[in-house]
Amino acid sequence: MSVRVVARIRPLLKAEIPKDIIVDAAKSPGETTENKSIVRIPNPKKESEAFSFQFNSVYDQEATQAQIFDNEVSPTVKHLFKGYDVTLFAYGVTGTGKTHTMRGGKAMADRGVIPRLLSSIYRRARKVEKDTDGETQVDVSMSYYEIYNDRVFDLFEPPEKRTPAGLPIRDMGNGKTQVVGLTERPCTTLKEFEQLYDQANVNRSTSATKLNAHSSRSHAILCVNITQITDDETRVSTASAIDLAGSEDNRRTDNNKERLVESASINKSLFVLAQCVEAISRKQTRIPYRESKMTRILCLGQNNGLTVMILNLAPVRSYHLDTLSSLNFANRTKKIEVNEVENQPFFREAPGKSKLDGEKPSSFAGPAMHRQP
Ligand code: ADP
Ligand code: MG
Repeated sequence: MSVRVVARIRPLLKAEIPKDIIVDAAKSPGETTENKSIVRIPNPKKESEAFSFQFNSVYDQEATQAQIFDNEVSPTVKHLFKGYDVTLFAYGVTGTGKTHTMRGGKAMADRGVIPRLLSSIYRRARKVEKDTDGETQVDVSMSYYEIYNDRVFDLFEPPEKRTPAGLPIRDMGNGKTQVVGLTERPCTTLKEFEQLYDQANVNRSTSATKLNAHSSRSHAILCVNITQITDDETRVSTASAIDLAGSEDNRRTDNNKERLVESASINKSLFVLAQCVEAISRKQTRIPYRESKMTRILCLGQNNGLTVMILNLAPVRSYHLDTLSSLNFANRTKKIEVNEVENQPFFREAPGKSKLDGEKPSSFAGPAMHRQP
């Protein structure tokens, strides 16, 4: 089992302005690679200090959908065809780009990780079939469900057909679990996949309008099953892509009872997820995956799979505390940089724009000292 944690800082939205940018990506000191791996953000209690967090990789505002897929997800496809499971998470506050990263837009360049992954799976499936002269047959099927308040709902079921208690999950005895009664649809082409996926997403947004924007409070889990069949063996592996519930602390904004229930179950499952990711990355043998429904269904850490967590971040000040808590969630080895030298002011540039005039220098401009917190 291995895990990569990467951060993605989204570009400014229309209503946001460059002078509110407080988060940026940096290279780690001494690093010669092209890749950035550090996220820097001011300490809210003392803005002359900046926290820096290190990840496997950091994508800044200019990163394209293609780059995220090509660098982080595409390399996992060959493992998938060797029989390993692959799990992709998008974690972050509502409005930071989780759905954009996972699903993306309709235009080719805007397509997110999921349609690109499927496209890559179909391409490889055809290659395997061709290379084995048709002796290996590759079947692809999908299921798509959400976990809301710790209950599992099939997204192929229209919302009015849902049973309020959700679908039961069952231990299969081999460390794996199964959602009982979950629809599994074969999809033999990308086009077929996209039709099914779009239809299921309509079910998700329909229930969202009924349940007060609950889509930001549910985890949407897409499972793509790849079955490779030869005369001698059948090999099944699963790619799961999870658009997680918004990680914002709902208690801070709204105290009604329904929200508190949602909040408690979101916090619990995200907390367990963080513990699993940490345990896997530290190569510990005990991974507490049984402690939440989501990690249990995904058997996170139980098999020889690959996990990629994308931490979505907004660059602006209005997300300051939530961004810090997202960063803390994903990485406990943060450093503090202190700006002790009077630096040349530097001006951040908005994507596509040139020099900005009259902005104040950032609190973490220029060379900095490192010390452990
Ligand atoms: P979330 O799912 O985390 O709530 P969304 O994916 O809905 O967030 O993103 C919020 C808004 O930001 C959307 O309008 C989305 O199109 C836009 N957005 C997010 N990430 C990017 C990006 N990398 N490039 C362009 N627009 C983005
Ligand atoms: Mg979303």
